[in-house]
Amino acid sequence: MKISILTMFPQLFDSFLQGPVLQRAIRKESLQIEIIDIKDFAPGSYRHIDDSPFGGGAGMVMRCQPVLDALRYAQGTGEGIPQGGNAVSAAMTPAGRKFDQKTARSYAQLDHLILICGHYEGMDERIYSRVDEQISIGDYVLTGGEIAAMAVSDAVIRLLPGAIRDGSTSEESFENGLLEYPQYTQPAVYEGESVPEVLLSGHHEKIRKWRLRESLRKTLLMRPDLLDGREMTEEEAEILEELAKERK
Ligand code: SAM
Repeated sequence: MKISILTMFPQLFDSFLQGPVLQRAIRKESLQIEIIDIKDFAPGSYRHIDDSPFGGGAGMVMRCQPVLDALRYAQGTGEGIPQGGNAVSAAMTPAGRKFDQKTARSYAQLDHLILICGHYEGMDERIYSRVDEQISIGDYVLTGGEIAAMAVSDAVIRLLPGAIRDGSTSEESFENGLLEYPQYTQPAVYEGESVPEVLLSGHHEKIRKWRLRESLRKTLLMRPDLLDGREMTEEEAEILEELAKERK
């Protein structure tokens, strides 16, 4: 897939682009990534990107023309993207739909994902009606969309073929609607605290059952909202019943 990121501050992506997972995805030819400088689409030597809001008020608003010309450029440079391929353009904004693992999975299936980073007070409203989606990474306000675009791209890139060496993304938190079970590594005892015995047993079925139980326990404790309306297997329902009894 190709990811195009439109930003006024391309230099903020310098170290992000050096990340080992991102670089591996490029080497495995799963990923092309380009950072497009919105300033290149602004007229004159002054690079007029923002202006004061109609109706008055604090701050500046990003103008339609440079942002949408940059978007059209990104849409027209689908080098390596199959004809008729599927593409999504998404504006980063706190008002958008909350980004989650399901969206990351669906973006990872795209041929082309275009992310637009806002700044200042945000973008002229007419930009939002010309993109496919508006995406938020949470209910807080960042200074600019760059960190949001990095978060979205990172979550997508690690799902691309070959990006993660052992392909271990399928058991992670949110993948099956639950938080991941607790993980441990060497040493088996640290400051008197031992790793659960079952993990040292080498018994695959017992380990699977323990992990499912602990995954359910963690979800029940930390994110019970994830269990609302989630379809349960018979085994999961039984474990949840036991966990509920334990808590009484
Ligand atoms: N005035 C805007 C508002 O109240 O909604 C906030 C603008 S914010 C200071 C500047 C830019 O940061 C936004 O245009 C957006 O691109 C980005 N941004 C801030 N918070 C974000 C979030 N939670 N998710 C995604 N993007 C965000």
